[in-house]
Amino acid sequence: MDALEVEDLVMHYGPVRAVDGVTLRIRQGSVVALVGESGSGKSTVGRCIVRLVEPSGGTVHLAGVDITHLNRRQLRPHRRNVSIVFQDPAGSLDPRLSVGDIVGEPLRLMRRKDIPAKVNEALRRVGLRPEVAHRAPHELSGGQRQRVSIARALISEPHLLVADEPTSALDVSVQAAVLNLLADLQRDLGFACLFITHDLSAVEYLADEVAVMYLGQLVEQGPRARIFGKPAHPYTQALLSAAPVPDPAEQRARRPVLLGDDLPSAIDPPSGCRFHTRCPVAVDKCRTVVPERRTIGEGGHQVACHLVNDDGTGPDVRPTEGAAR
Ligand code: SF4
Repeated sequence: MDALEVEDLVMHYGPVRAVDGVTLRIRQGSVVALVGESGSGKSTVGRCIVRLVEPSGGTVHLAGVDITHLNRRQLRPHRRNVSIVFQDPAGSLDPRLSVGDIVGEPLRLMRRKDIPAKVNEALRRVGLRPEVAHRAPHELSGGQRQRVSIARALISEPHLLVADEPTSALDVSVQAAVLNLLADLQRDLGFACLFITHDLSAVEYLADEVAVMYLGQLVEQGPRARIFGKPAHPYTQALLSAAPVPDPAEQRARRPVLLGDDLPSAIDPPSGCRFHTRCPVAVDKCRTVVPERRTIGEGGHQVACHLVNDDGTGPDVRPTEGAAR
């Protein structure tokens, strides 16, 4: 049984088609990175999965249980199976509560015993001393507050953690430490994780699989090594060409694909392939025919592009080395 099965998920806010038919699975204990520009709908997918919002269509199964339309009371027994860590720890921690109360709250809602001992253990696990339990969130640094969020998210031992841009609001100096912590905890505790991010260097470090989202839909997904080594979709190729790399010489030699126009509006997305207004290799068919998602290789590598062949070969929009900028 998979930790998460999302089938044809749709989330429309009035005329805004934020998510439009996303199908995604996460195996027990594995990490799937959901990547794409801001406005692609990836955070909305996360919110539907933890049922902060009720999807407009499709289904969400958590550890085999269909939670798509459960009401608050029906959801309660399943809440412990999924947690979320948000981008901004300052906004997601109640300033009126002590750190200990914040971290222990999920257990109180489950009427569990031994909460102080479990809070201490949860704080220790994220690298904080037990005394922190008596402090208020505003007395802590941004990195410490995100550690508190992670301790709270994991105290109920969920099967699935949704981490929504967990480091992007933090100082660059502490981002790596928080990412390391998440990676260590994931390995030690074995939870599955949906890692929502636009930071592709973090993806390479953390994820087993990658799913690429464009304007409410998945355009490519597959094992990390395949997506990074042989990206098939022109949008994935463009995203990867713009991602920073640690080696300064390699970084200087990079030729990012410039996509030109901004992301189109999710109120009236382009016809056919939604990427056709920015795709450097679009053909006539792309404007009228929606490309189907097809499997193009081992490990469930899938892509939605008319020009990619069944063996994964096809267009490469990245400039070759030495090409003019
Ligand atoms: Fe580009 Fe057409 Fe492929 Fe869409 S279907 S990514 S527009 S080539």
